[in-house]
Formats: sequence, structure tokens, C-alpha cells
Amino acid sequence: MNSSAQAQDKYTQARQGMIQEIEADARSTSFYINKKELDPKVMDAMGKVPRHEFVPGQVRHLAYENRPLPIGHGQTISQPYIVALMTDLLEPKRQHKVLEVGTGSGYQAAILAELVAEVFTIEIIEPLGNEAKERLKQLNYKNVHVRIGDGYYGWEEQGPFDGIVVTAAASHIPPPLIQQLKPGGRMVIPVGSRFMVQQLVVVEKDAKGKLTTRQILPVRFVPLTGAH
Ligand code: SAM
Repeated sequence: MNSSAQAQDKYTQARQGMIQEIEADARSTSFYINKKELDPKVMDAMGKVPRHEFVPGQVRHLAYENRPLPIGHGQTISQPYIVALMTDLLEPKRQHKVLEVGTGSGYQAAILAELVAEVFTIEIIEPLGNEAKERLKQLNYKNVHVRIGDGYYGWEEQGPFDGIVVTAAASHIPPPLIQQLKPGGRMVIPVGSRFMVQQLVVVEKDAKGKLTTRQILPVRFVPLTGAH
């Protein structure tokens, strides 16, 4: 085996270990999520996307630990279990067009790109957004579109969306995002302040436009920033 094949093999094994930890977390949170395992399609995507490509060199050896990691600018790549859970809660379908608020490293966008037709993702910190854009291009994710801006306002020209995932905690559900959700669509968003317990919330819009919200479990995210 040459050294690059050895490195690949090392990461494949480590990624398998991460999958087992996600499975264990799903079982131990089954009380909250109402099931013992996540959607197999989502787990396949988690087993495929090379998380080590999305983290800085200094923490690459930790890429497959089931924990958030720093990605610079005071931001983090989310814990793998939380990425898997949020993706599962979104109930992605092959034909879907999805919006992500908070591109960060681009990892969540890559997971979504494995499962849906088009991913639109917005990042407020310009260098992070640009790095993620370049990384996703290098990894050949042609169905991800990255934009720099305040995701609180969504991406009106590309809406409405079948699904919206927000990966930073908001004090309230942004009305522009509700507006850009299709009837029958769902949004997954952490709600709460930096100093209080945040809740992961699923918002569903029915065919008539009526909203229902469901709290899933307590989480801890960096705050949604911006001028709103
Ligand atoms: N989804 C990311 C990933 O897979 O690496 C992790 C996201 S990190 C937990 C949250 C991200 O949201 C940060 O990169 C932060 O800069 C970004 N963010 C915060 N407020 C934002 C806003 N108003 N609009 C867009 N992005 C925002």
C-alpha cells in the first residue's frame, strides 16, 4: 500500500468509528428523537463525506471524533451526531432544493449535497464562506451554491425551499425563512440565546401554510449574528 492509500485507509476506519458513535448517540437519545436509529440514507452520507477535508490541519487527527471542532474566526464545525440528526429531521428527498444558513466549513452542505438536488448555503464571515466554496469545488460538489451574506434574510431569489437548516442559534425563528419555506416544507433550527439552553426545533409548514413547531432536544450552538 502506498502512503496515500494508507492515509485513505486510516480515515475510512476512523470514519467507521464515528458512524458507530453516532449510532450509539441515536440510541441514547431515543427518548427525545422518538426512534432508535437515524435514516440509513443519512448515515450512508455521513459514512461517505471526508470530514477530515473540512477541518484545519491542526485538528485533522480529531476529524472523526464525535465532537465539534474549531474552524477559525471563533466558529466551529458541528458535532457529527448533531449534523446527522439535523439532516435526518429535515427528511431530505432526492428532488429537494434546500437552504442552509451558516456554511462554516461546508461539511453540512456536503452531507446535504449527497442527498438532495440543490443546496444553497449562506455564510456571514467572508473568509470562511470563500474557503468553504473553494473546498466544495475541489471535492467536486457541483450542486452546492455558496453565498456570503446574512442568512437571517434567506436567499429570496432561489426560494421557496423544500427544507431549511440553520446551523447557528437564533433568538427567534426568522420570519423571512418561514416565508421562503414551501408548503409541505420543514425547517430545522436551534432556538435560544448564547447563555441559555437552546432547543433544536422542527418547524413544519402544511399544504395550507399553517405552521407547527416541535422541540426535539437541548443543543449548544454558536449564535446567529448579523444586524437583524
Ligand atoms: N454548518 C457548518 C459546518 O458544517 O461546518 C457549521 C456552522 S457553525 C456551527 C455556524 C456558522 O454560522 C458559522 O460559520 C457562523 O459564521 C455562521 N453564521 C452566524 N450567523 C450567521 C448569519 N446571520 N448568516 C449566515 N451565517 C451565519
